[in-house]
Amino acid sequence: MSNIINGTEIAKIIKDEIKKDIENLQGKKPCLAVIILGNDDASHIYVNNKNKACDYVGIKTDTYFLDDSISEVELLSLIEELNDDTSVNGILVQLPLPKHINEKNILFKINPLKDVDGFHPYNIGLLSTNSATLKSCTPSGCMEILKRYNVEIKGKNALVIGRSNIVGKPISMMLLNEDATVTTAHTKTKDLEYLTKQADIIIVAIGVANFLKPHMVKEGVILIDVGINRFDGKLCGDIDFSCSNKASLITPVPGGVGPMTITMLMKNCLIAYKIQNNINIEEN
Ligand code: NAD
Repeated sequence: MSNIINGTEIAKIIKDEIKKDIENLQGKKPCLAVIILGNDDASHIYVNNKNKACDYVGIKTDTYFLDDSISEVELLSLIEELNDDTSVNGILVQLPLPKHINEKNILFKINPLKDVDGFHPYNIGLLSTNSATLKSCTPSGCMEILKRYNVEIKGKNALVIGRSNIVGKPISMMLLNEDATVTTAHTKTKDLEYLTKQADIIIVAIGVANFLKPHMVKEGVILIDVGINRFDGKLCGDIDFSCSNKASLITPVPGGVGPMTITMLMKNCLIAYKIQNNINIEEN
């Protein structure tokens, strides 16, 4: 069997599971409201991909294309409206936001039950006590990959490189919740190579092209690459792909973690719908 993880294939399987689950809602459809400000190309492509994935699984989308001159007060009042609208199950504000808007004020305004990005402190708090239902999408995507490839996490030395609020910190908590011994490394970490050589599982989320090299890892390591970078005009991750010669499993870029992020967003929309409609969530 190949040691290269096929994120696109797992994403498709999960999307089909979600689609089937939504078909069982007797004609009802979860609804996701997406707010996007300005004309940033990357954000528009991402929102377009989200809308396509929603269509595929049967989630209704309402996209608000707003001028980036909108005030923070106006944006907060739109979120308040969407919080109160019972036909909306999930709210997503596409980041980054223009400088005059305080990102935290916006994200913290979203009703935690509609927080399909899993960024609200209430949901982060639940994650830290291992009781979250809405979890941040990219980290959940990494965990789902490990699960679907039957990786035993319990008791393993897991190293997360990167400590951002949206990837590094939540993935560290998720691994800890699954009984790994977790180390979180960052720019101030001393002797990173010592840590990488001890690790059974390494997740890299730093945004530095081809950062992790083969000489830094042990034979049989499991490597999950969250990074998305451009190098010599080509898309690449934070892990030098020649590490695949030593790894027992490795995610490629593209085609690894990337496709999982939107898929986990779909899953969160369905979970949010179920929570709001008192439907049992058997598994999360
Ligand atoms: P960020 O810039 O917010 O955080 C980067 C983190 O990496 C920081 O904690 C920093 O301390 C650490 N870091 C940076 N350089 C380092 C180094 N040389 N050694 C050790 N630690 C270092 O980034 P982010 O939002 O967490 O994203 C990280 C990467 O993941 C980016 O390439 C981003 O594009 C990608 N990303 C991908 C997805 C996806 O869906 N696949 C989703 C989110 C982010």
